[in-house]
Amino acid sequence: MTSLGSLPLRDDLRGRSPYGAPVIDVPVRLNVNENAFDVPADVTAALQQRIAEVSATLNRYPDREFTELRRLLAGYLNDVLRGEGAASAPGTIASAAQAGASGPIVPDMIWAANGSNEVLFHILQAYGGPGRSALGFGPSYSMHPLITQSTGSEWIEVPRGADFSITAQSAVEAVRAHAPDVVFVCTPNNPTGNSTPLDVIEAIYDATDGVVIVDEAYAEFAGADFRTALSLLPGRPRLVVSRTMSKAFAFAGARVGYAAAAPELVDGLRLVRMPYHLSSLTQAAAEAALAHPDSLLAGVEELSRQRDRMVAGLRGFGFDVVQSDANFVLFRGVADPSLLWTQLVEKGVLIRDVGIAGCLRANAGTDEETTAFLDALADILSTPPDTLGRSPQ
Ligand SMILES: *Cc1c(COP(=O)(O)O)cnc(C)c1O
Repeated sequence: MTSLGSLPLRDDLRGRSPYGAPVIDVPVRLNVNENAFDVPADVTAALQQRIAEVSATLNRYPDREFTELRRLLAGYLNDVLRGEGAASAPGTIASAAQAGASGPIVPDMIWAANGSNEVLFHILQAYGGPGRSALGFGPSYSMHPLITQSTGSEWIEVPRGADFSITAQSAVEAVRAHAPDVVFVCTPNNPTGNSTPLDVIEAIYDATDGVVIVDEAYAEFAGADFRTALSLLPGRPRLVVSRTMSKAFAFAGARVGYAAAAPELVDGLRLVRMPYHLSSLTQAAAEAALAHPDSLLAGVEELSRQRDRMVAGLRGFGFDVVQSDANFVLFRGVADPSLLWTQLVEKGVLIRDVGIAGCLRANAGTDEETTAFLDALADILSTPPDTLGRSPQ
C-alpha cells in the first residue's frame, strides 16, 4: 500500500493492514475456501434469462427491500430447519425444497447484503460503534476484527481451547468479564473447521445483553451432528445467524450474504445500509440461483468427500488435522509454514498461511485439485532431508 502518512486518515486506522489473501495465478487454488465447482448449467441459463429481463429496467432503482429475495431466503432456511428436524427425528418426512413454504423463518426476519461481510458490517454499524466493543473467540475469521474496528468499535479476542473448542464455562466467564456489545461465534469456525454446540451458544446468549452473531458461513458442509443456531431464534431477539451464498452455493462472485434475526433487529440494520444497496442485477442473479437450490448445492457432498480425503491424506503424512465441518482443513505440526506454503506454490498449488504457529489451511477442491495438492505434498515431504515442511512427530 502507498504511504498514508501525510493524509488525514482516522487515527484509529493508522498502521492497520487491509484484508488481503495473496492472489497468485497458479493452476490449483485452494486458499480462499471457494467452491471448486463452476455454477451448474441450469442455473446459468436461468440467471441469463433473469438478467436479460431486468436489464431494460436498470434506469430504475432496485427494490430497496429486496422482497422476493427475502422470501426465497426464508424459504431456504425453513427447508434447512425441516431437514434437520427430519434428520434428528427419524420417521418425519422433510418436505421438498419449496421456496416460501411456511416455517418459523418469515421474510421480515431476513436481511441480505453484498456478501455476508457486508451483513456483518451492517450489524456492527447498528449495534457496535464508537465506545462499544465486540468479542470473538480466536483463532477465527480475520474479517471479524477488521469489520469491528472499521466501525470504530473495540475488538476483544478471547482464546479458544487447545483443541480450538469453546466451552460454555470459559465463554460465559469471558463474556461476563468483558461485557461486550456484540459477540461473534463462528461455527463451523474459519480457519479451524470445528463447530460449537448449541448449548454453548445458548449459554453465551444468556450471559450477555449484547447482540450474538453466529457466523454459519460453512454450515452446509457440516456433518450430521451439526445443529444450526436458526432453531434458537424464537424468543431470542438479540441473536443473528449469518450465512452466505459464497461457499456451499458456489456464488462468491455474485456477492450475496444474508442473515436471519428478529424483525426488530433487522429494522436496526435498515438505519445504516446505503439506499438500494443490493443492485437489481444482484437480486435477479440470487433469485434465479435460489430457484435451483438442489443444483447449486450439488457440489457440497463431493467437496465434503474431498475434504475427508484431504484429512486422511494429511494424517497419513503425519500431520495433526483438526476435525472439520467446513470445506477446508487446518493441519498442525508444520515445522515451517511459510516454507511449505512457498514450496507448494512452486508446484502450482496455492493454500493459506493463516498465521497460526505450525499450521496451514487448505480447502477441498475437485478430485483432480485435491489429488494435485496431496501429490505435491508427498513430493515435497519425500525430498530429503525431511526437515522441509514437517516437524518430527
Ligand atoms: C467466507 C466467509 C464469509 C463469507 O463472506 P462473503 O462476504 O459472504 O463472501 C463469512 N464468514 C466467514 C467465517 C467466512 O469464512
